[in-house]
Amino acid sequence: MDKIKMNTPLVEMDGDEMTRILWKMIKDKLILPFVDLKAEYYDLGLINRNDTNDQVTVDAANRINELGVGVKCATITPNAARMVEYPQLKEMWKSPNGTIRSILDGTVFRAPIIIDCIKPVVKNWEAPITIARHAYGDVYKASEIRTEEAGTAYLTFKGASGKETTVEVAKMNCPGVLQGMHNKDTSITSFAHACFKYAIATKQDLWFSTKETISKKYDGRFKQIFEDLFETQYKQEFDKLGITYFYTLIDDAVARVIRSKGGYIWACKNYDGDVMSDMVSTAFGSLAMMTSVLVSPTGKFEYEAAHGTVTRHYYKYLKGEETSTNPVATIFAWSGAFKKRGELDNLPELVKYGECVEKATLCTLEEGIMTKDLVGLAEGISPISVNTEEFLTQIQTRLEKLLKN
Ligand code: NAP
Ligand code: MG
Repeated sequence: MDKIKMNTPLVEMDGDEMTRILWKMIKDKLILPFVDLKAEYYDLGLINRNDTNDQVTVDAANRINELGVGVKCATITPNAARMVEYPQLKEMWKSPNGTIRSILDGTVFRAPIIIDCIKPVVKNWEAPITIARHAYGDVYKASEIRTEEAGTAYLTFKGASGKETTVEVAKMNCPGVLQGMHNKDTSITSFAHACFKYAIATKQDLWFSTKETISKKYDGRFKQIFEDLFETQYKQEFDKLGITYFYTLIDDAVARVIRSKGGYIWACKNYDGDVMSDMVSTAFGSLAMMTSVLVSPTGKFEYEAAHGTVTRHYYKYLKGEETSTNPVATIFAWSGAFKKRGELDNLPELVKYGECVEKATLCTLEEGIMTKDLVGLAEGISPISVNTEEFLTQIQTRLEKLLKN
């Protein structure tokens, strides 16, 4: 069989720990035997980010802006414990995902991969809930201060015109912590456009929630921008398709989501989206069954798994113990990237390959061959628990058959 040809390269971003191991296994078993892979490789593993003073992350993100499609492995965001684990770290480097998101000014859409034999924990959920996470600013781009004494904190803005605005944040009678965060009208507007467009493209209702009763200026601005855009640019199209735009407070939204049937997009601010996507994916089955795509307002795409580097499994792997880490979300990151690349370059064979990879993966699961995390969740079948390597081999066998047809 001839290998499937590519035209424009993908921006490939390698990562850390267990997902770095999965990354190589997926390439070896499901990609390289079938595709004449064209990819520009960026090593976003923690060691190389440290060696390059994190320049590699910036370079990769800029390259996605040029080439259009990237695929990323999960990466470590260092915290205090990681500074001890990796003593060579020059700095507590920022989240690579945060860096990439702010360069692409994108919105992250996360949707669960659903299979018949795994029923959601929330029994009234019948259809996937897609979380649209605003991927710029707020706490992810905040500046923080730890104070060691009493004092007064102010928030100051110096306008380009020279006009200055200052508000008092707090009088502190003891040491404490401070945080200054921001967002931009342009970014909130891109976020809103991305959400309305995605709702139209997928013909799903759009929900949006903030805490604007408490955060009148900050969250209030988000609410206003969404409302204005909807009224002036999207209402007609929504009415025509019979879909709705629904705004409510974040706490009310959480309560309604639990009672809903699913089948809509829930637009969330950056932090809400971070937290809620983990809740939604876990309730649908497993963190390892959640896809994630970052879409920029200019139509650039970055695909990844929604989960992290699965540290606990990696330590077992290092000790030589067998691991049964679920590679499905990482497989779907690659397949999503190939499908999009094929669509943009007008390569139907590449699109078909991406679809076949997904079909082969879902068939394997529906036949009850799954990693350990899913076995306990499957109903109505007698699942067989396999290790990651065997799982990938099973997918490979099915993929070969599908591609021959
Ligand atoms: P995590 O890697 O998502 O793992 C949390 C737990 O979820 C795992 O211990 C495992 O549970 C389960 N799990 C997640 N993915 C799985 C998979 N593919 N197969 C089977 N089980 C899976 O989150 P974390 O432990 O909080 O974070 C670890 C590192 O990842 C951190 O350094 C963090 O900075 C980084 N991170 C990166 C990204 C990203 O790059 N997108 C996102 C989140 C976190 P059991 O242990 O019970 O089996
Ligand atoms: Mg999260």
